[in-house]
Amino acid sequence: MSEVRSPAIEIALLGDDGAAPATTPATAGVDGRTNIFDFDRARLERFFEEDLGEKKFRAHQVMKWIHHRHATDFADMTDLGKALRAKLEERAVVHAPQVLFEKTSTDDTQKWLLGMDAKNAIETVYIPDKGRGTLCVSSQVGCALNCGFCSTATQGFNRNLSTAEIIGQVWVAARALGNVPHASVAQGGRRLTNVVMMGMGEPLANFDNVVRAMSIMRDDLGYGLANKRVTLSTAGLVPQIDRLAQESDVSLAVSLHAPFDELRTQLMPINKKYPLAELLDACVRYALRKKGESVTFEYTLMKGVNDQPEHARALIGLLRDFDRRVQMKGAAKINLIPFNPFPGTGFERPSDEAIRAFQKMLNNAGMIAPVRRTRGDDIDAACGQLKGQVLDRTRRSAEHRKRLQAAGAH
Ligand code: SF4
Repeated sequence: MSEVRSPAIEIALLGDDGAAPATTPATAGVDGRTNIFDFDRARLERFFEEDLGEKKFRAHQVMKWIHHRHATDFADMTDLGKALRAKLEERAVVHAPQVLFEKTSTDDTQKWLLGMDAKNAIETVYIPDKGRGTLCVSSQVGCALNCGFCSTATQGFNRNLSTAEIIGQVWVAARALGNVPHASVAQGGRRLTNVVMMGMGEPLANFDNVVRAMSIMRDDLGYGLANKRVTLSTAGLVPQIDRLAQESDVSLAVSLHAPFDELRTQLMPINKKYPLAELLDACVRYALRKKGESVTFEYTLMKGVNDQPEHARALIGLLRDFDRRVQMKGAAKINLIPFNPFPGTGFERPSDEAIRAFQKMLNNAGMIAPVRRTRGDDIDAACGQLKGQVLDRTRRSAEHRKRLQAAGAH
């Protein structure tokens, strides 16, 4: 089992509200010009009306050019008048993240390494499946939460991504895939059907930028995804879950990984600040805000750590209790994720028999508990394996390197 660090050290990296320190740089514009990728529909309309003295519908035309047709040059936006195009040129840019590297797995999973500034890069992954295409999007450069089993955590943390840098990941993938937002999935054209905020970072620690980016994903003028097809996955920042319930309407997934507080705190230091009971209360409130709403709980299975019958029994108890409180059978959905090892980790993937035995216990209790297939393994794009390039502001990446070297020396 890998070293589990003191939660106190890690929580010190967070503000009082559990959010990462505010190190987001100013809007990532160019030469003082505004980057339009930073604007959702409401903000872009305001920019057109108040800053440019133009009508709202012009903002809509520009959104369609950018997100539907993947244009970045105002000169190509031919249904705008010449004078407006010149004005836009002077005041704004459409600046996407730079593709540093692109890789396709033998199972067609695609991964992009995207440069966010001179020193930092993040990863975005596209997972095609029957009738759907899911994009896994990052929200921060690194992550401050330091879950003990997570590859991203070993890289430390640098900063939050801006809205432009988050929606820019969707734009890069949509352009590469030739995505047509409102086309039929069956006949092709529509390649991007789901987005999961499950890449690098804790999305709720970068609340405003993530919520604004998710609003563009769900906007008809953006990527036209239904609310339930955009999923935010959190390690469990309780106040921000409540805020999300008020300010956005997306699917919620929670990284649970342990049914006992002591074990969960060892695996996920954030549990010390927001223990299971508080987290589950917030999830119940989230589900109750809308009839028929479910919450997905992610459970990474680690050999000898959280894959034993007592863990399955306790997990069944938590999920049943959740259903009872939400008054809906199946309100708590569970995904089982076999651990994906990475260099230097002390955790291991359980055997297939152990995974099946754990799943069977949940099934026997009347629960559907799919085991997530590992995708993109050959290109390190599998769940928990994402690593960009992080100019670490913590000492964590140096510590990880030291541990790797020490292990190599023995
Ligand atoms: S599992 Fe998620 S929240 Fe935890 S360290 Fe990794 S990226 Fe951050």
